[in-house]
Amino acid sequence: MADSPAGFIRTQFNRFVLGGYRPLQSVGECVQSLFYLHNELFNILSHGLPILFFAKYATDDQTWSQISYSWLAYLNYAACLSPHLGSVAYHLFMNHRSGAWAYFRLLKLDMCGVWAVQTFGALTTIYATFYCNKLLQASMMTIYILVSSWTLYEAVHATSVYKRMCSFAVQVAIRLLTLLVRLSPLGYGNPYSTKHTFLMDAIAISGGVINLLRVPERFWPGKFDYFLNSHNIMHIMTTIGVFHMHWGAVGDIIWASQYQCNV
Ligand SMILES: [Zn+2]
Repeated sequence: MADSPAGFIRTQFNRFVLGGYRPLQSVGECVQSLFYLHNELFNILSHGLPILFFAKYATDDQTWSQISYSWLAYLNYAACLSPHLGSVAYHLFMNHRSGAWAYFRLLKLDMCGVWAVQTFGALTTIYATFYCNKLLQASMMTIYILVSSWTLYEAVHATSVYKRMCSFAVQVAIRLLTLLVRLSPLGYGNPYSTKHTFLMDAIAISGGVINLLRVPERFWPGKFDYFLNSHNIMHIMTTIGVFHMHWGAVGDIIWASQYQCNV
């Protein structure tokens, strides 16, 4: 949040985005802002449209009928929707007239969505990777849930973009360890899902780094106010990462229903 030249508080979280800010608005006016151009419209639509896809997937996609017997399918569904729901709420209402009070609560909600996708999404991968060692499987899932609880506290209390990203580091480290086990002779899981597991994190983390670096707008301040600034790019890459997570989880859930462990 920053004081604007016009005297009202504007939601400027990127100092290289110079124009296109909405004034402080009511809930209704924030919703009406869906129908004209401003510097949050791309952020709202880029995470709003995937909600429509995943909502449809939950009800009538053929894939869903193949995996809906498993509790992991519901976890995956929550993981797919959460970051987009939190993000749309944050970007649509961040300029609400209650000012900083609303802004920082919405930012926490956005962080909860980012946390949910990383927490719920990874559990299917861990479940499949340690599938035939039930003790190790339960231990890894428990450790990941405990670490995730600590991560949630850190993420919602972080005071900068950099600290918010760092709060997810331990989760990323456990997912990297899981990927290495999966690639080794000790690991299990659908081979088709392994590449999606890797791409999910590689693409999403790359998007986070681009957002942190404020590229390309730091080189041309004001030229990317409406489209393709670092936050816009991160949104696109996050959604691509979620699709990879979804494809990987579906593959692993179907694989787990058919795989016989040699006991
Ligand atoms: Zn965002």
